[in-house]
This record gives sequence, structure tokens and C-alpha cells, in this order.
Amino acid sequence: MQKRILIVEDETAIRELIAMAVSRAGMLADHAADVRAATAAIAERVPDLILLDWMLPGTSGIDYARRLRREELTRDIPIIMLTARGEEDDRVHGLDAGVDDYVVKPFSVRELLARIRSVLRRTLGEMEVGNVELGGLRIDGAAHRVFSGDQAIAVGPTEYRLLYFFMTHPDRVYARNQLLDQVWGGSVYVEERTVDVHIRRLRKTLEPFAKDALVQTVRGTGYRFSVLV
Ligand code: CA
Repeated sequence: MQKRILIVEDETAIRELIAMAVSRAGMLADHAADVRAATAAIAERVPDLILLDWMLPGTSGIDYARRLRREELTRDIPIIMLTARGEEDDRVHGLDAGVDDYVVKPFSVRELLARIRSVLRRTLGEMEVGNVELGGLRIDGAAHRVFSGDQAIAVGPTEYRLLYFFMTHPDRVYARNQLLDQVWGGSVYVEERTVDVHIRRLRKTLEPFAKDALVQTVRGTGYRFSVLV
């Protein structure tokens, strides 16, 4: 099925350039020049991915991203932020808001399409295939089982969800509240230190297989799953 991309960008020339590239790549493009138009577009048809400009008139892209993440209908739609800012601070704000990826302006159309495909693959992988392999670990999503090589690993249900989320979102840092949203579900009230408890359990589970170092603590920020030390 053709993927539908919603482009939220107030600069007409950029919006049309992106729309053209998206159409040429075989996807459908919806346009919105501001948050109001984006809200209307989503009410009409829920897109598979949103390209969201940071600097918009009225509500900023980042505030809108937060809003999208809070609402049931839109919380799982992947968001790629278009930003002129490359500052580390802004990236952290974006991650806090639950943005999936960034493209810094000026960008090449090729780079943008590559990011779109990569984010779509990641989210599709989660929903439709359910199998993921990384760093010598393998999750069989249909069977709900984890393997290190040929050895099955007994993983508790929360640790399983945590590991699944990590392995489908590698190399990025998640704050505790983001992990709560993603793994426990935003509506459930759980204290942030619960995350630490389950991280510890997950590491303990992986330790006999020498895979515990894949779950990394990023001081002052949160946790990351990475094959890089
Ligand atoms: Ca703009």
C-alpha cells in the first residue's frame, strides 16, 4: 500500500519540493502550511509519517509534536523534524517531545527520502514483522522469544517489551519518561525509578550471554541500546 506523508512546512517552495520528491518516490503527499491545516489533514486521513518543520507560524513544530504524542490517534505516527538548528540542545528537546528523527536544513532530497524510508522501515518492522536482530540478540516477535545465537533467553514481560523497544530504536537516548510512554504506555501511572529497576533486571537477564553492555546508561539523560561502546 502507498505510504501517506504529511508535510507540515510554511515555506511553500520547500513544501512543494518535498511533495514532488515524495510523489516521485511512489508515496502520497499531503500538504499543510501550519498546525491548524495539519490538524485538519490528519482528521481527514491519518498519515503514515509526518514531516514537521520546527519553525512554523503560531504553534511551533516542537509543541505540535508534543501534542501529537499525547493524543491516542496520533501518538504512534512517526515524526521527522525539519530544522535549521543543529544544536545538541534542540535535539534533546526534540527527543523529549518524542520525535523519531531529524533532518537539518538545508538538506538534500535524497537524504530526506532515505530518512523517511528508514523511519518507515523501523515502525513497519515493529508492527508487521515483529522480528528484530541486533548485536547478537534476536527477537522472534511472533513467538515472543529472545535468543542469543541459538540459546533462548528467559525474559520477563516488561523486560521483553523494553528490549523490543530498544532493539527497534537503537543508538538513541531515551529519557525515563519517554521509556515509560513507549514501553509502559502513557496512560499508566508509574514512577520513573521503575524504569531503573527494569533496566537492572534486563541487564541481569542478558549478563550470562555477555549482552548486558548493549543496554547503556547515558549520564543525566537516560538509556540507550547500542552495539557501539
Ligand atoms: Ca518554517
